[in-house]
Amino acid sequence: MPEPILEVRDLTVHFYTYAGIVKAIEKVSFDVYKGETFALVGETGCGKSVTSRALTQLIESPGRIVGGKVIYHRDDGSTVDLLKLSEEEIREIRGKEIAYIFQDPHASLDPLYTVGYQIAEAMVVHKTVKDWKEGFKRAVDILRQVLIPDPEKRVKNYPHEMSGGMKQRVVIGIGVSNNPRILIADEPTTALDVTVQAQILDLMNELKRKYNTTLILITHNMGVVAEMADRVAVMYAGKIVEVGSVDQIFKNPLHPYTKGLLRAVPNPLGKIEKLEAIPGTVPNLITPPAGCRFHPRCPYASEVCRQKIPELKEIEPGHFVACHLY
Ligand code: SF4
Repeated sequence: MPEPILEVRDLTVHFYTYAGIVKAIEKVSFDVYKGETFALVGETGCGKSVTSRALTQLIESPGRIVGGKVIYHRDDGSTVDLLKLSEEEIREIRGKEIAYIFQDPHASLDPLYTVGYQIAEAMVVHKTVKDWKEGFKRAVDILRQVLIPDPEKRVKNYPHEMSGGMKQRVVIGIGVSNNPRILIADEPTTALDVTVQAQILDLMNELKRKYNTTLILITHNMGVVAEMADRVAVMYAGKIVEVGSVDQIFKNPLHPYTKGLLRAVPNPLGKIEKLEAIPGTVPNLITPPAGCRFHPRCPYASEVCRQKIPELKEIEPGHFVACHLY
């Protein structure tokens, strides 16, 4: 049996705006296993980034985590609900045991400090080095690991002196600097050129293998999922609609939305000649559709779909779907 490192149960986040309460994610539940790459996929605005940020309480006003649990299994076998920790306690874990790589390296790095300072700072703050001198020495090693040429010189560079790909390598370096148990990568290659994307994905895979890190990958790119993930959760309008292994999702998708998603993108594991769009648009999450949130766009919708919220059910070992058809 795979060992869970995170158990997310009924995670719910709302944003309190002047226009109304945006129900960004509702009762989201999934497990992440030790050492795997778990992908959260879905189109823009489906709630995948909000889910990833809520795992360590990184939700800012006007957002609020209004329910759920995130059970974290520590190395010593004990467990803790990350949502019950104080800000001081969660800071001890965030960046050290659970680290993030965000989408835009330009926004992630501070233009006023050298990249060496920013890598060293992550270790000094979490006391994984004894002082700044050791931090800077480790920063050079980290730049070497993330394949930055001439790291002794580059460590003194400011972010503006580097290309987008190099900056994203630095952000990955900051992410892995404390050897985290879980690395959450939120669209880590979206802001980069296609050729650089492939290099960054290779690098992340290699670092993950080397440090035996659990990777949670947030992406809308099914090609990246096929290349990187062991298991996949598909999100639609703030809900998880299907979870399975990468083979189950690509070869035997069950949920009508997952099927539509795969027909709408070039499928790296299959042959599809004509790409099809999913009719309609994503719903307004201030007033989401009753019952199944996908029903206004679903060709199989029936009366029960308009009234009853489908629960995630296990259809075959490890393959779950939330749809009244099953
Ligand atoms: Fe379509 Fe109904 Fe399944 Fe929702 S529950 S995906 S509307 S068939």
